[in-house]
Amino acid sequence: MADHFQLRLVDSVMLAPAVRHLAFERVDGQPLAFMPGQFLQVHFHYDDGSATKRSYSVATVGGDGSAPNEPVEVTRIEIAVSYVEGGAATGLLGGLEKGDVIEASGPYGRFCLQQTDTHPRYLLLATGTGVTPYRAMLPQIEKLLAGGGREVVLLCGARNEGELLYGGEFEAFAQQHPGFIFHGCLSRQPRATPRPTDRSGHVQNVLAELQPHPDRDIAYLCGNPDMVDAAFTVLKEFGLPVSQIRREKYISAR
Ligand SMILES: Cc1cc2nc3c(=O)[nH]c(=O)nc-3n(C[C@H](O)[C@H](O)[C@H](O)COP(=O)(O)OP(=O)(O)OC[C@H]3O[C@@H](n4cnc5c(N)ncnc54)[C@H](O)[C@@H]3O)c2cc1C
Repeated sequence: MADHFQLRLVDSVMLAPAVRHLAFERVDGQPLAFMPGQFLQVHFHYDDGSATKRSYSVATVGGDGSAPNEPVEVTRIEIAVSYVEGGAATGLLGGLEKGDVIEASGPYGRFCLQQTDTHPRYLLLATGTGVTPYRAMLPQIEKLLAGGGREVVLLCGARNEGELLYGGEFEAFAQQHPGFIFHGCLSRQPRATPRPTDRSGHVQNVLAELQPHPDRDIAYLCGNPDMVDAAFTVLKEFGLPVSQIRREKYISAR
């Protein structure tokens, strides 16, 4: 059941030239209970006074993944906001200062890891801020890998190194967890010092290298709607049924 609450900005940092990571706390002092992969809605008004809202995935890494079917309770509520030229929510969230308060509700959505899934390999694809649900899932992924016999491959799309969000965190996680493979997929410009795990081009084009198979893989696609559609087509061509392809499209709610 979604809750309505106020959020106060406590911290922020620019992750990339046009992406701001924002950390909030609930004004009522309550924790937020959410399933990693879910999103919040931010409620605000246009200049003409009409009400509107926009969705943002929770990026917080919380809990220890030990109760995978239970919501995680966090006091620090983090989101990553990609700036859209002329965007209404961009204007609001881009201009927020420490201590400012916004209206929000949630959590919503079912883009979550399912305990009933028994597939040996997870293919997680994202572009831009679409990677935030996977960041929130890291404790669950850690537990999943600790059980053995599983592999998680994260393909993260960005135009260049500077736009690869949370890249350092995912690389560190990959070093600590051999079953976790992270590929930064850079579509416009390679890194100054390329890594062996880097790939060039769009995330969906790296799928051929991974040879998805319906007996082995379950896929999650998040972010730019064009990427989600393109990757969905590729995965279906490899024989994955729709039930093994979970999708979250970052479309504007207006
Ligand atoms: C389930 C869900 C989760 C989401 N999670 C996130 C998230 O974690 N981080 C995040 O940054 N966004 C996320 N989004 C997208 C977000 O909700 C807004 O749509 C986005 O921030 C743009 O809002 P805006 O009000 O600034 O722009 P708007 O005022 O809605 O749009 C301004 C103009 O830009 C166009 N536009 C809108 N979005 C884009 C875009 N992405 N790229 C190019 N043009 C665009 C519109 O068509 C319009 O012409 C999510 C969307 C959904 C549905």
